[in-house]
Amino acid sequence: MLYAYVNVNFWRAFMPTYKAPVDEVLFLLNHVLGFERYSNLSGFADASPDMVDMILGEAAKFCEEVVQPLNLSGDQQGCTRHDDGSVTVPDGFKEAYDSYREAGWIGLAADPEYGGQGLPYTLAAVLNEFVSSSNMAWGMYAGLTQGAITAILLHGSDEQKQAYLPNMISGEWSGTMNLTEPHCGTDLGLIKTKAVPNDDGSFAISGQKIFISAGEHDMTSNIIHLVLARIEGEPEGTKGISLFVVPKFKLDDDGKPGDRNAVSCGAIEEKMGIHANSTCVMNYDGARGWLVGEKNKGLRAMFTMMNEARLGVGIQGLSQSEVAYQNAVVYARERLQGRALSGPKNPEGNADPIIVHPDVRRTLMQIRAFNEAARALVLWTALKGDVAHRSEDEKDRKAADDFMGLMTPVIKGVLTDKGFENTVSAQQMYGGHGYIAEWGMEQFVRDARIAMIYEGTNGIQALDLVGRKLPREGGKAVMAYFAEVNEFIQANADNADMQPYVEPLKTGLDHLQQATMWFMQNAMAKPDNAGAGSTDYMHLFGLVALGYMWARMVKVADEQLSAGAGERAGFLETKKALGRFWMERVMPETAAHLARISSGSDTMMNMPAEAF
Ligand SMILES: Cc1cc2nc3c(=O)[nH]c(=O)nc-3n(C[C@H](O)[C@H](O)[C@H](O)COP(=O)(O)OP(=O)(O)OC[C@H]3O[C@@H](n4cnc5c(N)ncnc54)[C@H](O)[C@@H]3O)c2cc1C
Repeated sequence: MLYAYVNVNFWRAFMPTYKAPVDEVLFLLNHVLGFERYSNLSGFADASPDMVDMILGEAAKFCEEVVQPLNLSGDQQGCTRHDDGSVTVPDGFKEAYDSYREAGWIGLAADPEYGGQGLPYTLAAVLNEFVSSSNMAWGMYAGLTQGAITAILLHGSDEQKQAYLPNMISGEWSGTMNLTEPHCGTDLGLIKTKAVPNDDGSFAISGQKIFISAGEHDMTSNIIHLVLARIEGEPEGTKGISLFVVPKFKLDDDGKPGDRNAVSCGAIEEKMGIHANSTCVMNYDGARGWLVGEKNKGLRAMFTMMNEARLGVGIQGLSQSEVAYQNAVVYARERLQGRALSGPKNPEGNADPIIVHPDVRRTLMQIRAFNEAARALVLWTALKGDVAHRSEDEKDRKAADDFMGLMTPVIKGVLTDKGFENTVSAQQMYGGHGYIAEWGMEQFVRDARIAMIYEGTNGIQALDLVGRKLPREGGKAVMAYFAEVNEFIQANADNADMQPYVEPLKTGLDHLQQATMWFMQNAMAKPDNAGAGSTDYMHLFGLVALGYMWARMVKVADEQLSAGAGERAGFLETKKALGRFWMERVMPETAAHLARISSGSDTMMNMPAEAF
């Protein structure tokens, strides 16, 4: 048994580790979510269970052996901007990226017409979790490219798709999203970056963008910037914003990177976490750009690709929670402090491992019960994304799209808020050692923090849920969701084994429905009531959505155990225990959220601003 007296060997023994949760994912895909039932969707025929097993195994190996070992060193070294404006990434990053690219991982789910493999997007979501748990900062280089690919695919001209997509999908070129400016982040109607038409149909783009992830680096031979700007003379506010594609190197007649464009990195930000991802101030000095989609419809173009991007950020929250949990468990098994309240569990030693203490177990189970349900919710939503984009049935496509729209702010907001909270809880398991950099736990805390902020702060996610997603089409999406959860509850009403799971879910759903009704009655005439309750509503929704995932997982576990699970019995019993924990210890929070929501906005809005 090792003690935490720091010496080099001990430190090495406790470098953070990561094991991709392949078994958990296979349980969800094959048994809970019925992945095979979707074989009529394009790309799913190539994703047979054997193939999925193989793909996930390879992804896990790459992430564990190549990407994760660069996490701590990348954080310590960070990115470097040189006097000529170029940026170098930490040692080993480019080599790992090249291997990733060559193996075709970047185009896993991308359109085969442009060189992608066309496999289900659900598998790309799994890959994103593994990559991000291994090394969030490294994963963002290819992650940002995915967003840019989607924007060009959905809104670009055929010529633009041919010019950019094959090289972006292969990973030869990377992509960025340039929205934020010094004076505006949430309120993009304030954008000042200007686009002046050139004679040849292109535009001269001028202005400054800040906080641009992967804005400049040396991983790829070109960087394709997608930039929001206002064409000269077009309306102020959100109505006058257009989207442009601005390559770092303009393409020559053969479509290869040619002359340097007038876009450069003015600085890289010193920041709290994700040090290995270059967050850049980008200066556009009359750079040549080309309009993507319709003039003045830039924000709409951005929003159509938001669902996937926000799901990706939600996955980052889960990913940090997962890797932090894995390390906390290792530590809790090794660290000897105190004796179990019920008597020594390690009588030969002079203390018991801290995992014997109920409060330590509470902390660990809280994180793990969240992680497993969050993963189920992500994959369930990603599957809906596949249906929304690949089904031939228009009704199915629409229903899946409604579900995705509704669940996206919940996933982004809840998984990143709780993901961050969980990294702090996991750090707590290390006592003082969690605060010391070399153990790696404080990096997870620092890295997880940004996911609550970018891609729309979590406060804005909550407003999106309450202000846009709930009322859309007379509440069609939320009503469909309530009906689905209710159907499950009714179907299991007579199943005695399921009652400890179904009853709390029923109470939670009831609270969520009451909160929804409260908004309908109290927020239309007084929008502050919606704003004041929005974050609570988002978390209340999250509790029910995750609770529903637990009930579904437990149902499968129960059925498999009854059928005689053999060697799998331990795995399935653990599912039941974690599900029970969620229902007993976490679901009761729905009542507190409902109470806060129904207290309205008066207390906070009546206090004068100068009294704060
Ligand atoms: C490391 C990092 C990487 C980033 N990467 C990118 C990138 O690649 N591309 C890009 O374009 N941007 C990027 N961003 C910017 C990021 O998306 C913005 O910081 C974010 O959208 C918030 O904008 P802001 O910082 O201007 O905050 P503000 O908009 O000023 O918000 C400040 C606070 O006010 C709240 N608030 C604002 N408006 C409202 C409202 N109407 N109702 C209630 N609350 C409100 C917000 O929730 C927030 O808490 C990145 C930022 C960081 C730090």
